[in-house]
Amino acid sequence: MTDFLARARELDAADALAPFRERFVIPDEELVYLDGNSLGRLPVSTRERLHRAIDEWGADLIRGWDRWITLSREVGDVLATGVLEAAPGEVVLSDSTSVNLYKLAVAACAARPGRRVIVTDDDNFPSDRYILQGLADELRVVKTDIDLGVSTEAVREVLDDDVALVSLSHVAYRSGALADMAAVTAAVHEVGALVLWDLSHSAGAVRVPLRSARVDLAVGCTYKHLNAGPGAPAFLYVRSDLQRDLRQPIWGWFGQRDQFDMGAVYDPVDSIDRFQVGTPPVLGAYAALEGARLTAEAGIGAIAEKGTALGAFAIEMSDAWLAPHGFALASPRAGIRRGGHVTLHHSRAWQLSQALRAAGVVPDFRTPDRLRLGFGALYTRFVDVYAGLTRLREIAASGSHLEFPEKHARVT
Ligand SMILES: *Cc1c(COP(=O)(O)O)cnc(C)c1O
Repeated sequence: MTDFLARARELDAADALAPFRERFVIPDEELVYLDGNSLGRLPVSTRERLHRAIDEWGADLIRGWDRWITLSREVGDVLATGVLEAAPGEVVLSDSTSVNLYKLAVAACAARPGRRVIVTDDDNFPSDRYILQGLADELRVVKTDIDLGVSTEAVREVLDDDVALVSLSHVAYRSGALADMAAVTAAVHEVGALVLWDLSHSAGAVRVPLRSARVDLAVGCTYKHLNAGPGAPAFLYVRSDLQRDLRQPIWGWFGQRDQFDMGAVYDPVDSIDRFQVGTPPVLGAYAALEGARLTAEAGIGAIAEKGTALGAFAIEMSDAWLAPHGFALASPRAGIRRGGHVTLHHSRAWQLSQALRAAGVVPDFRTPDRLRLGFGALYTRFVDVYAGLTRLREIAASGSHLEFPEKHARVT
């Protein structure tokens, strides 16, 4: 029988990213945190930067805006070059992911007049599906396997020259399935449509080849794998050659040419800034800056590789220890088809997730009956995976989860 603990220790000893754990605030070493894909941990440098930013507010007052005014672009450039394989000037921090998706989807449809159709998939993140429902003349919904994600063939089948836009998630929020960004984007371009990728679960977890895949548009969160904190602003990406031709629907003063001329008529700048709207949340932007820098420093290649290895280790343990207790893998098995989390199916997943929390392990639950285990590669050790799955086995074997409520809480 495999000695998983010995294996976990060996893998940690060989882990080149191990020193990055010290760059995070970890007040409780006993807590096994497997939910960095929902809300990443707090970097030490962010805590310091936010303290400084608050003092700058106190001392500099309105004069601080001389610096703060370009912060969204500064973060955008770090994301572009250090995280997303894009070019400086193609990414900016702005609003929330949901709002950015709306802005770019409307802009894309306006750039394809006469085409009535938006394509998405039935397992895309709810906010994405609702926003597209709200704005599409006709929404074509690709059927997916909820554990294996959206296939390029299934997308290809619904494409024709009525399609203006295809909007999909790169890493599926529930299963962690990774879509083939290059192949889907190429297929969308063949029919003359634009593609809009949601990178919320990809940014900071996997390689995002925006340039080589010739992606048109993208949006994503900074509070998940980029560790920018609750409610931190999102980012958006528009390929440089498209920027001048796209008009987003919310005409705010942060998109305006010569903003402080306070001109009579909206005249957007010829850059990524035209996709900004209003005053950015400066504290959240500083947190996003630190999170993006930390990811860029570690290197997205190394992060993706470790994330895959953590997932593979969890799957191996689950096969050996959890399958006999009614668990089944609800993610792609192959590492190259997965993002930074692994999902397990169990008919009592909600009760198990509550029992795990009570036992000092934080996963999350996703409908209908999935336990989602996220592995923030910068601070998760293989021994954490070992501890989490060991406790899960103990709970499932003893049946202690059956004492927890069956009714779902407001936040799962
Ligand atoms: C987390 C997530 C969001 C969240 O959007 P908000 O506007 O920040 O609430 C959107 N899309 C996907 C795919 C996500 O995973």
